[in-house]
Amino acid sequence: MEHQLTYSLIDKLKKNRHLESDEWRQVISDCHPETMEYARQLAHTQAQEVYGNKVFIRGLIEISNYCKNNCHYCGIRCGNVNANRFRLSKEEILSCCENGYALGFRTFVLQGGEDPVQDDAFIVDVVQTIRKKYPDCAITLSVGEKEKESYEAYYNAGANRYLLRHETADEEHYHMLHPQNLKLENRIRCLRDLKQIGFQTGAGMMIGSPGQSVDTLCKDMALLEELQPEMVGMGPFIPHKDSIFANEPAGSVDLTVYLLSLTRLLLPRVLLPATTALSTVSGQGRSRGILAGANVVMPNLSPLTTRAKYNLYDNKAITGGESAEKITQLKEEFNAIGYEVVIDRGDYRRE
Ligand code: SAM
Repeated sequence: MEHQLTYSLIDKLKKNRHLESDEWRQVISDCHPETMEYARQLAHTQAQEVYGNKVFIRGLIEISNYCKNNCHYCGIRCGNVNANRFRLSKEEILSCCENGYALGFRTFVLQGGEDPVQDDAFIVDVVQTIRKKYPDCAITLSVGEKEKESYEAYYNAGANRYLLRHETADEEHYHMLHPQNLKLENRIRCLRDLKQIGFQTGAGMMIGSPGQSVDTLCKDMALLEELQPEMVGMGPFIPHKDSIFANEPAGSVDLTVYLLSLTRLLLPRVLLPATTALSTVSGQGRSRGILAGANVVMPNLSPLTTRAKYNLYDNKAITGGESAEKITQLKEEFNAIGYEVVIDRGDYRRE
């Protein structure tokens, strides 16, 4: 009885794909085992209705940890003098794709810091080459904020998807997390440009980032509703020892899993990863995420020599199910919970 109001609002969310801000406040602040389980079951059913018992895999290739930005939470921010920097060459990236293709990956995700050396010409060249070599694969980029013309060039070169978490939809909170030169307005401009160009676009946020509150999360959910992204990246914040937030606590696993379920109910067709950050903070993170409405995992395809250097946060999981080589282990893990890892591009399913 205690959570009756929340249950009825979760039902309403499923039915209307919308909540008012005071309703979001009620639902998000009532993160208890009973309400989590209620949302989980509905979200799980929702994901199964759209995508069946399939888990889509993406091969993550970390292409550079050089970054011109100094985001307060991030281990590869330019101000971290202790970061051991690397950038992959075109040949190294292609070799990752070759390994990934043989392992059954049909989506390659190229992610990196905003590295001025890996400029538009480099990205376009790499995308064009992958597109030509692997016409049956999806190419996802996640290389930060760019001008619309750059995004257009990437799209025309053959990229299909772009991940750019909005990080927080609250102006004040955005300024707590980022230096003054980075603006929420520009982040959102990028997301709108990406959608308009035709990318399957991913927004999202860390859960439990310093300064986050129920109110900022309500704004995040409202922004997700407004943007209608095809993908949402949502994982717990984890401190990095050389970041400004070194002494802050990590985000809650329960709240992350709850918000995954609520996101599935808000955006029923969304491609929703159970993130590496979730696996890092919880041994069962991946399976819990999938059972709560997520339907994507992104094992690491980066060269073993650079993988440990892409340190966004402390103790990042890079072995076991988080590594592409251990795909068999991942398949077994998902089979055990009734899911099947598929060899498929795993595109967004429109109605
Ligand atoms: N530069 C690109 C961008 O800005 O989107 C992609 C790379 S960026 C490192 C990828 C994501 O890592 C960010 O969107 C952020 O949410 C996440 N991230 C960075 N530091 C993190 C931390 N300490 N804990 C959890 N996630 C973190």
